[in-house]
Amino acid sequence: MTPAALRDRQHWVFDMDGTLTLAIHDFPAIKRALDIPQEHDILAHLAQLPEDEAAAKHAWLLAHERELALAAQPAPGARELVQTLYRRGCQLGILTRNALPLAELTLEVIGLRECFAEAAILGRDEAPPKPDPGGLLHLAAHWQVPSSRLVMVGDYRYDLECARQAGACAVLVNLPENPWPQLTDLHAGSCAELLALL
Ligand SMILES: [Mg+2]
Repeated sequence: MTPAALRDRQHWVFDMDGTLTLAIHDFPAIKRALDIPQEHDILAHLAQLPEDEAAAKHAWLLAHERELALAAQPAPGARELVQTLYRRGCQLGILTRNALPLAELTLEVIGLRECFAEAAILGRDEAPPKPDPGGLLHLAAHWQVPSSRLVMVGDYRYDLECARQAGACAVLVNLPENPWPQLTDLHAGSCAELLALL
């Protein structure tokens, strides 16, 4: 994918934590607090617990993530990137493993809430968690475009795998080196660098 080809894209989906915000989730600490083995996926682990234990741990996670949301700071260039695409008339979505109310709170805190339509913000209860491509397929159907027209911007392997499985363009940001070149169509060191290519 060349920057020129990316410039033509009208449908952009962003991961939130670590992509539009500075990464502050300490996942190893969360796993220790919830007694989840380090090698396990948090949401997948909670999904297979007995109902009351899962509910209690989800409640803890929500409270913890709410604190993080209130302290959210935009990643370098994230506001400018999203606002530029918004002004150009692009359709913008969020696909996050965070909960929807916290995604909306985080977007408020970093000043980007108005750039995203309510129906285009998908949290962990609105779509199967990445790397499942369900969220991207949902947004493509909502926007009435083939999923191959979507761009998925994220900072982690799950974002790229999700894009791959949906046939969307996979853009990696906020890492100085790219550990997953085989999953990536375009790598930019930051949202600011990505914006400079557009
Ligand atoms: Mg992320």
